[in-house]
Amino acid sequence: MSFDLAARLAARRAENLYRQRPLLESPQGPEVVVDGKPLLAFCNNDYLGLANHPQVIEAWRAGAEKWGVGGGASHLVIGHSTPHHALEEALADLTGRPRVLLFTTGYMANLGAVTALVGQGDTVLEDRLNHASLLDAGLLSGARFSRYLHNDAASLSSRLEKATGNTLVVTDGVFSMDGDIADLPALAREAKAKGAWLMVDDAHGFGPLGANGGGCVEHFGLGMDDVPVLVGTLGKAFGTAGAFVAGSEELIETLIQFARPYIYTTSQPPALACATLKSLELLRSEHWRREHLQSLIRQFRHGAEQIGLELMDSFTPIQPIMIGDAGRAVRLSQMLRERGLMVTAIRPPTVPAGSARLRVTLTAAHSEAQVQLLLEGLADCFKQLGPEPNDA
Ligand SMILES: *Cc1c(COP(=O)(O)O)cnc(C)c1O
Repeated sequence: MSFDLAARLAARRAENLYRQRPLLESPQGPEVVVDGKPLLAFCNNDYLGLANHPQVIEAWRAGAEKWGVGGGASHLVIGHSTPHHALEEALADLTGRPRVLLFTTGYMANLGAVTALVGQGDTVLEDRLNHASLLDAGLLSGARFSRYLHNDAASLSSRLEKATGNTLVVTDGVFSMDGDIADLPALAREAKAKGAWLMVDDAHGFGPLGANGGGCVEHFGLGMDDVPVLVGTLGKAFGTAGAFVAGSEELIETLIQFARPYIYTTSQPPALACATLKSLELLRSEHWRREHLQSLIRQFRHGAEQIGLELMDSFTPIQPIMIGDAGRAVRLSQMLRERGLMVTAIRPPTVPAGSARLRVTLTAAHSEAQVQLLLEGLADCFKQLGPEPNDA
Protein backbone atom coordinates (compact mmCIF):
# COMPACT_ATOMS: atom_id res chain seq x y z
CA MET A 1 0.00 0.00 0.00
CA SER A 2 1.21 3.46 -0.78
CA PHE A 3 -0.13 6.89 -1.45
CA ASP A 4 0.43 7.40 -5.15
CA LEU A 5 0.13 11.17 -4.99
CA ALA A 6 2.11 11.70 -8.21
CA ALA A 7 -0.49 9.71 -10.18
CA ARG A 8 -3.37 11.63 -8.62
CA LEU A 9 -1.74 14.93 -9.44
CA ALA A 10 -0.97 13.86 -13.01
CA ALA A 11 -4.58 12.79 -13.54
CA ARG A 12 -5.77 16.14 -12.25
CA ARG A 13 -3.46 17.91 -14.69
CA ALA A 14 -4.62 15.76 -17.61
CA GLU A 15 -8.23 16.76 -16.94
CA ASN A 16 -7.40 20.49 -17.04
CA LEU A 17 -8.44 20.64 -13.40
CA TYR A 18 -5.08 21.35 -11.80
CA ARG A 19 -5.23 24.35 -9.48
CA GLN A 20 -2.56 26.89 -8.74
CA ARG A 21 -2.47 29.81 -6.39
CA PRO A 22 -1.75 33.16 -8.04
CA LEU A 23 0.56 35.18 -5.78
CA LEU A 24 -0.97 38.55 -4.91
CA GLU A 25 1.84 41.04 -4.35
CA SER A 26 -0.30 44.11 -3.63
CA PRO A 27 -3.32 44.94 -1.47
CA GLN A 28 -6.70 43.72 -2.72
CA GLY A 29 -8.39 45.98 -5.25
CA PRO A 30 -9.08 46.44 -8.97
CA GLU A 31 -5.42 47.17 -9.77
CA VAL A 32 -3.20 44.45 -8.41
CA VAL A 33 0.20 42.90 -8.93
CA VAL A 34 0.00 39.14 -9.42
CA ASP A 35 3.01 36.91 -10.01
CA GLY A 36 5.08 39.99 -10.73
CA LYS A 37 2.67 41.45 -13.26
CA PRO A 38 0.35 44.47 -12.90
CA LEU A 39 -3.21 43.40 -13.71
CA LEU A 40 -6.72 44.79 -13.73
CA ALA A 41 -8.63 42.20 -11.72
CA PHE A 42 -12.28 41.15 -11.78
CA CYS A 43 -12.23 38.24 -9.38
CA ASN A 44 -12.28 39.29 -5.74
CA ASN A 45 -15.37 39.31 -3.50
CA ASP A 46 -14.65 42.72 -2.01
CA TYR A 47 -17.91 43.95 -3.55
CA LEU A 48 -18.04 47.33 -1.85
CA GLY A 49 -14.32 48.07 -2.02
CA LEU A 50 -13.78 48.03 1.75
CA ALA A 51 -10.89 45.55 2.10
CA ASN A 52 -8.31 48.28 1.73
CA HIS A 53 -10.31 51.27 2.95
CA PRO A 54 -8.25 53.80 4.98
CA GLN A 55 -10.89 54.16 7.70
CA VAL A 56 -11.17 50.40 8.11
CA ILE A 57 -7.39 50.08 8.28
CA GLU A 58 -7.28 52.85 10.88
CA ALA A 59 -9.97 51.11 12.96
CA TRP A 60 -7.89 47.93 12.88
CA ARG A 61 -4.77 49.85 13.91
CA ALA A 62 -6.56 51.61 16.76
CA GLY A 63 -8.15 48.31 17.80
CA ALA A 64 -4.76 46.62 17.97
CA GLU A 65 -3.38 49.46 20.12
CA LYS A 66 -6.23 49.05 22.55
CA TRP A 67 -6.91 45.31 22.51
CA GLY A 68 -3.71 43.70 21.26
CA VAL A 69 -3.57 41.36 18.31
CA GLY A 70 -4.65 37.92 19.48
CA GLY A 71 -8.00 36.63 20.76
CA GLY A 72 -6.01 34.55 23.23
CA ALA A 73 -8.65 31.91 24.01
CA SER A 74 -11.96 30.50 22.85
CA HIS A 75 -15.11 32.54 23.42
CA LEU A 76 -16.31 30.30 26.26
CA VAL A 77 -13.02 30.52 28.17
CA ILE A 78 -11.77 34.12 28.11
CA GLY A 79 -11.59 35.07 24.41
CA HIS A 80 -14.95 36.83 24.08
CA SER A 81 -14.02 40.48 24.33
CA THR A 82 -15.85 43.81 24.19
CA PRO A 83 -15.26 44.43 20.43
CA HIS A 84 -16.64 40.95 19.57
CA HIS A 85 -19.70 41.69 21.67
CA ALA A 86 -20.20 45.14 20.15
CA LEU A 87 -19.91 43.67 16.65
CA GLU A 88 -22.55 41.03 17.46
CA GLU A 89 -24.89 43.77 18.63
CA ALA A 90 -24.28 45.89 15.53
CA LEU A 91 -24.91 42.88 13.26
CA ALA A 92 -28.12 42.08 15.16
CA ASP A 93 -29.21 45.62 14.40
CA LEU A 94 -28.31 45.25 10.69
CA THR A 95 -30.25 41.99 10.37
CA GLY A 96 -33.16 43.04 12.58
CA ARG A 97 -32.79 39.84 14.60
CA PRO A 98 -32.56 39.60 18.38
CA ARG A 99 -29.10 38.08 18.47
CA VAL A 100 -26.02 37.29 16.46
CA LEU A 101 -23.13 34.93 17.06
CA LEU A 102 -19.71 35.66 15.59
CA PHE A 103 -17.68 32.83 14.01
CA THR A 104 -14.09 32.92 12.73
CA THR A 105 -15.00 31.87 9.18
CA GLY A 106 -18.08 31.24 7.09
CA TYR A 107 -17.05 27.64 6.65
CA MET A 108 -17.15 27.16 10.40
CA ALA A 109 -20.40 29.09 10.83
CA ASN A 110 -22.08 26.70 8.40
CA LEU A 111 -20.59 23.57 9.94
CA GLY A 112 -21.52 24.86 13.38
CA ALA A 113 -25.10 25.86 12.66
CA VAL A 114 -26.11 22.76 10.69
CA THR A 115 -24.49 20.23 13.02
CA ALA A 116 -25.94 21.93 16.11
CA LEU A 117 -29.46 21.87 14.68
CA VAL A 118 -29.81 18.45 13.06
CA GLY A 119 -28.36 14.98 13.61
CA GLN A 120 -29.27 11.33 13.25
CA GLY A 121 -32.99 10.86 12.68
CA ASP A 122 -33.35 14.37 11.25
CA THR A 123 -33.32 15.62 7.66
CA VAL A 124 -31.30 18.25 5.86
CA LEU A 125 -32.41 19.37 2.39
CA GLU A 126 -30.03 21.44 0.30
CA ASP A 127 -30.03 23.17 -3.07
CA ARG A 128 -27.76 21.13 -5.31
CA LEU A 129 -25.67 24.21 -6.12
CA ASN A 130 -25.07 25.19 -2.50
CA HIS A 131 -21.61 26.29 -1.41
CA ALA A 132 -19.27 23.42 -0.50
CA SER A 133 -19.27 24.39 3.19
CA LEU A 134 -23.05 23.88 3.37
CA LEU A 135 -22.87 20.53 1.63
CA ASP A 136 -20.04 19.43 3.92
CA ALA A 137 -22.04 20.60 6.94
CA GLY A 138 -25.06 18.56 5.85
CA LEU A 139 -22.96 15.42 5.41
CA LEU A 140 -21.13 15.92 8.70
CA SER A 141 -24.39 16.37 10.64
CA GLY A 142 -25.37 12.71 10.24
CA ALA A 143 -28.92 13.75 9.31
CA ARG A 144 -30.60 12.27 6.24
CA PHE A 145 -29.16 14.36 3.47
CA SER A 146 -30.83 15.12 0.18
CA ARG A 147 -30.32 17.71 -2.54
CA TYR A 148 -33.20 19.33 -4.41
CA LEU A 149 -33.06 20.79 -7.92
CA HIS A 150 -31.48 24.21 -8.13
CA ASN A 151 -33.75 26.91 -6.75
CA ASP A 152 -36.79 24.71 -7.36
CA ALA A 153 -39.52 24.98 -4.70
CA ALA A 154 -41.50 22.10 -6.24
CA SER A 155 -38.49 19.79 -6.04
CA LEU A 156 -37.99 20.90 -2.43
CA SER A 157 -41.64 20.23 -1.70
CA SER A 158 -41.49 16.64 -2.90
CA ARG A 159 -38.45 16.00 -0.70
CA LEU A 160 -40.14 17.63 2.27
CA GLU A 161 -42.94 15.05 1.92
CA LYS A 162 -40.46 12.29 2.76
CA ALA A 163 -38.56 14.16 5.48
CA THR A 164 -38.37 12.74 8.99
CA GLY A 165 -37.40 14.36 12.29
CA ASN A 166 -36.40 17.99 12.53
CA THR A 167 -35.95 19.26 8.99
CA LEU A 168 -33.57 21.99 7.94
CA VAL A 169 -33.78 23.46 4.44
CA VAL A 170 -30.48 25.07 3.49
CA THR A 171 -29.72 27.44 0.63
CA ASP A 172 -27.24 30.04 -0.53
CA GLY A 173 -28.90 33.49 -0.72
CA VAL A 174 -26.87 34.52 -3.78
CA PHE A 175 -25.37 31.44 -5.45
CA SER A 176 -21.64 31.91 -5.32
CA MET A 177 -20.72 30.50 -8.73
CA ASP A 178 -23.84 31.53 -10.67
CA GLY A 179 -24.77 34.89 -9.18
CA ASP A 180 -28.50 34.17 -9.21
CA ILE A 181 -30.57 34.70 -6.12
CA ALA A 182 -32.60 32.07 -4.28
CA ASP A 183 -36.39 32.34 -4.50
CA LEU A 184 -36.57 32.77 -0.76
CA PRO A 185 -40.28 33.61 -0.50
CA ALA A 186 -41.20 30.33 -2.25
CA LEU A 187 -38.66 28.27 -0.30
CA ALA A 188 -39.82 29.81 2.98
CA ARG A 189 -43.45 29.04 2.13
CA GLU A 190 -42.65 25.38 1.44
CA ALA A 191 -40.55 25.03 4.56
CA LYS A 192 -43.12 26.68 6.81
CA ALA A 193 -45.96 24.58 5.40
CA LYS A 194 -44.10 21.44 6.50
CA GLY A 195 -42.82 22.77 9.82
CA ALA A 196 -39.24 22.82 8.53
CA TRP A 197 -36.71 25.58 9.17
CA LEU A 198 -35.04 27.58 6.41
CA MET A 199 -31.36 28.45 6.76
CA VAL A 200 -29.93 31.00 4.32
CA ASP A 201 -26.21 31.56 3.79
CA ASP A 202 -26.08 35.06 2.35
CA ALA A 203 -22.31 35.38 2.03
CA HIS A 204 -22.63 37.30 -1.26
CA GLY A 205 -25.85 39.20 -0.54
CA PHE A 206 -24.89 41.22 2.53
CA GLY A 207 -23.54 44.53 1.30
CA PRO A 208 -24.58 44.64 -2.36
CA LEU A 209 -28.25 43.66 -1.88
CA GLY A 210 -31.05 45.25 0.12
CA ALA A 211 -31.66 48.96 0.52
CA ASN A 212 -29.28 49.08 3.51
CA GLY A 213 -26.99 46.24 2.60
CA GLY A 214 -29.05 43.70 4.56
CA GLY A 215 -28.84 41.19 1.73
CA CYS A 216 -31.44 38.83 0.27
CA VAL A 217 -33.77 38.85 3.25
CA GLU A 218 -33.94 42.63 3.14
CA HIS A 219 -34.36 42.50 -0.65
CA PHE A 220 -37.40 40.24 -0.24
CA GLY A 221 -38.62 41.80 3.02
CA LEU A 222 -38.51 38.48 4.89
CA GLY A 223 -38.48 38.15 8.66
CA MET A 224 -37.22 35.63 11.17
CA ASP A 225 -40.43 33.72 10.74
CA ASP A 226 -39.49 32.98 7.16
CA VAL A 227 -35.75 32.58 7.66
CA PRO A 228 -35.05 31.45 11.22
CA VAL A 229 -31.33 30.86 10.56
CA LEU A 230 -29.46 33.58 8.69
CA VAL A 231 -25.72 33.35 7.97
CA GLY A 232 -23.47 36.11 6.68
CA THR A 233 -19.74 36.24 6.10
CA LEU A 234 -17.42 39.15 6.72
CA GLY A 235 -14.65 38.34 4.24
CA LYS A 236 -16.65 39.48 1.21
CA ALA A 237 -18.51 42.80 1.07
CA PHE A 238 -17.48 43.66 4.64
CA GLY A 239 -13.89 43.49 3.44
CA THR A 240 -12.51 41.89 6.62
CA ALA A 241 -12.85 38.28 7.86
CA GLY A 242 -15.14 36.12 9.93
CA ALA A 243 -18.83 35.24 9.78
CA PHE A 244 -22.01 35.34 11.80
CA VAL A 245 -25.29 33.57 12.43
CA ALA A 246 -28.33 35.75 13.20
CA GLY A 247 -31.55 34.54 14.79
CA SER A 248 -33.57 34.17 17.95
CA GLU A 249 -32.26 34.24 21.49
CA GLU A 250 -32.84 30.47 21.70
CA LEU A 251 -31.05 29.76 18.43
CA ILE A 252 -27.95 31.67 19.51
CA GLU A 253 -27.91 30.08 22.96
CA THR A 254 -28.23 26.66 21.30
CA LEU A 255 -25.23 27.40 19.09
CA ILE A 256 -23.18 28.58 22.07
CA GLN A 257 -23.95 25.27 23.82
CA PHE A 258 -23.70 22.83 20.92
CA ALA A 259 -21.87 24.25 17.86
CA ARG A 260 -18.47 22.58 18.07
CA PRO A 261 -16.81 24.82 15.44
CA TYR A 262 -17.81 27.74 17.67
CA ILE A 263 -16.73 26.22 20.96
CA TYR A 264 -13.42 24.60 20.12
CA THR A 265 -11.59 27.40 18.41
CA THR A 266 -9.84 30.64 19.34
CA SER A 267 -11.86 33.81 18.94
CA GLN A 268 -10.92 36.07 16.05
CA PRO A 269 -8.55 38.94 16.92
CA PRO A 270 -10.57 41.65 18.71
CA ALA A 271 -8.91 44.31 16.52
CA LEU A 272 -10.45 42.58 13.53
CA ALA A 273 -13.87 43.07 15.10
CA CYS A 274 -13.00 46.77 15.49
CA ALA A 275 -12.22 46.94 11.76
CA THR A 276 -15.47 45.15 10.88
CA LEU A 277 -17.47 47.57 13.05
CA LYS A 278 -16.10 50.38 10.88
CA SER A 279 -16.74 48.57 7.60
CA LEU A 280 -20.28 47.75 8.75
CA GLU A 281 -20.88 51.44 9.33
CA LEU A 282 -19.64 52.26 5.79
CA LEU A 283 -21.60 49.35 4.30
CA ARG A 284 -24.86 50.63 5.81
CA SER A 285 -24.45 54.35 5.26
CA GLU A 286 -22.57 54.78 1.98
CA HIS A 287 -25.38 53.97 -0.42
CA TRP A 288 -23.36 55.28 -3.34
CA ARG A 289 -21.30 52.09 -3.23
CA ARG A 290 -24.36 49.94 -3.95
CA GLU A 291 -25.62 52.39 -6.58
CA HIS A 292 -22.29 52.61 -8.41
CA LEU A 293 -21.98 48.82 -8.32
CA GLN A 294 -25.47 48.40 -9.82
CA SER A 295 -24.60 50.77 -12.63
CA LEU A 296 -21.40 48.81 -13.39
CA ILE A 297 -23.42 45.58 -13.43
CA ARG A 298 -25.82 47.07 -15.98
CA GLN A 299 -22.91 48.36 -18.07
CA PHE A 300 -21.21 44.96 -18.02
CA ARG A 301 -24.33 42.98 -18.92
CA HIS A 302 -25.23 45.31 -21.73
CA GLY A 303 -21.71 45.18 -23.21
CA ALA A 304 -21.33 41.41 -22.77
CA GLU A 305 -24.63 40.73 -24.52
CA GLN A 306 -23.49 42.80 -27.49
CA ILE A 307 -20.34 40.66 -27.74
CA GLY A 308 -22.53 37.56 -27.73
CA LEU A 309 -21.28 36.14 -24.45
CA GLU A 310 -23.53 33.72 -22.58
CA LEU A 311 -24.37 35.36 -19.27
CA MET A 312 -26.35 33.90 -16.40
CA ASP A 313 -29.56 35.10 -14.80
CA SER A 314 -27.87 37.44 -12.32
CA PHE A 315 -28.32 41.02 -11.18
CA THR A 316 -25.66 40.62 -8.48
CA PRO A 317 -21.94 41.49 -8.67
CA ILE A 318 -21.26 37.86 -9.65
CA GLN A 319 -21.50 37.81 -13.46
CA PRO A 320 -20.25 34.46 -14.79
CA ILE A 321 -19.64 33.91 -18.49
CA MET A 322 -20.64 30.36 -19.34
CA ILE A 323 -18.02 28.52 -21.44
CA GLY A 324 -18.69 24.80 -20.84
CA ASP A 325 -15.41 23.05 -21.55
CA ALA A 326 -12.78 23.44 -18.79
CA GLY A 327 -9.88 23.70 -21.25
CA ARG A 328 -11.55 26.51 -23.20
CA ALA A 329 -12.37 28.38 -20.01
CA VAL A 330 -8.75 28.19 -18.90
CA ARG A 331 -7.54 29.30 -22.34
CA LEU A 332 -9.82 32.33 -22.38
CA SER A 333 -8.69 33.26 -18.89
CA GLN A 334 -5.04 33.00 -20.01
CA MET A 335 -5.63 35.13 -23.10
CA LEU A 336 -7.20 37.84 -20.95
CA ARG A 337 -4.29 37.60 -18.56
CA GLU A 338 -1.85 38.27 -21.39
CA ARG A 339 -3.79 41.50 -22.04
CA GLY A 340 -3.46 42.51 -18.40
CA LEU A 341 -6.93 41.38 -17.31
CA MET A 342 -7.49 38.88 -14.54
CA VAL A 343 -10.69 36.84 -14.53
CA THR A 344 -10.68 33.40 -12.93
CA ALA A 345 -11.81 30.26 -14.73
CA ILE A 346 -14.04 28.18 -12.47
CA ARG A 347 -13.98 24.47 -13.22
CA PRO A 348 -15.42 21.24 -11.83
CA PRO A 349 -15.68 20.11 -9.07
CA THR A 350 -16.48 23.66 -7.93
CA VAL A 351 -19.19 23.72 -10.63
CA PRO A 352 -20.96 20.77 -12.32
CA ALA A 353 -19.10 18.96 -15.13
CA GLY A 354 -19.41 20.69 -18.50
CA SER A 355 -20.24 24.07 -16.99
CA ALA A 356 -16.81 25.66 -16.66
CA ARG A 357 -17.06 29.42 -16.74
CA LEU A 358 -15.23 32.68 -16.22
CA ARG A 359 -16.42 34.17 -12.98
CA VAL A 360 -16.41 37.94 -13.39
CA THR A 361 -17.00 39.86 -10.19
CA LEU A 362 -17.56 43.60 -10.11
CA THR A 363 -16.97 45.87 -7.15
CA ALA A 364 -17.73 49.44 -6.14
CA ALA A 365 -13.99 50.09 -6.39
CA HIS A 366 -14.07 49.54 -10.16
CA SER A 367 -14.61 52.46 -12.53
CA GLU A 368 -16.75 52.60 -15.64
CA ALA A 369 -13.54 52.90 -17.69
CA GLN A 370 -12.16 49.71 -16.14
CA VAL A 371 -15.33 47.79 -16.99
CA GLN A 372 -14.99 49.12 -20.53
CA LEU A 373 -11.43 47.74 -20.70
CA LEU A 374 -12.73 44.36 -19.59
CA LEU A 375 -15.42 44.38 -22.27
CA GLU A 376 -12.90 45.29 -24.99
CA GLY A 377 -10.57 42.51 -23.83
CA LEU A 378 -13.42 40.01 -23.78
CA ALA A 379 -14.54 40.99 -27.27
CA ASP A 380 -11.06 40.42 -28.73
CA CYS A 381 -10.17 37.28 -26.80
CA PHE A 382 -13.55 35.65 -27.34
CA LYS A 383 -13.16 36.15 -31.09
CA GLN A 384 -9.65 34.63 -31.02
CA LEU A 385 -10.84 31.67 -28.98
CA GLY A 386 -12.96 30.64 -31.96
CA PRO A 387 -16.10 28.53 -32.07
CA GLU A 388 -16.54 25.55 -29.82
CA PRO A 389 -15.15 22.34 -31.36
CA ASN A 390 -17.98 20.03 -32.26
CA ASP A 391 -17.02 16.76 -30.65
CA ALA A 392 -20.38 15.04 -31.16
C1 LIG B 1 -17.19 32.33 0.85
C2 LIG B 1 -18.37 31.54 1.27
C3 LIG B 1 -18.39 30.85 2.48
C4 LIG B 1 -17.18 30.71 3.34
O1 LIG B 1 -16.92 31.86 4.06
P1 LIG B 1 -15.45 32.10 4.62
O2 LIG B 1 -15.62 33.15 5.64
O3 LIG B 1 -14.64 32.53 3.47
O4 LIG B 1 -15.00 30.79 5.20
C5 LIG B 1 -19.57 30.25 2.87
N1 LIG B 1 -20.66 30.29 2.09
C6 LIG B 1 -20.66 30.90 0.89
C7 LIG B 1 -21.90 30.91 0.07
C8 LIG B 1 -19.52 31.55 0.45
O5 LIG B 1 -19.49 32.13 -0.74
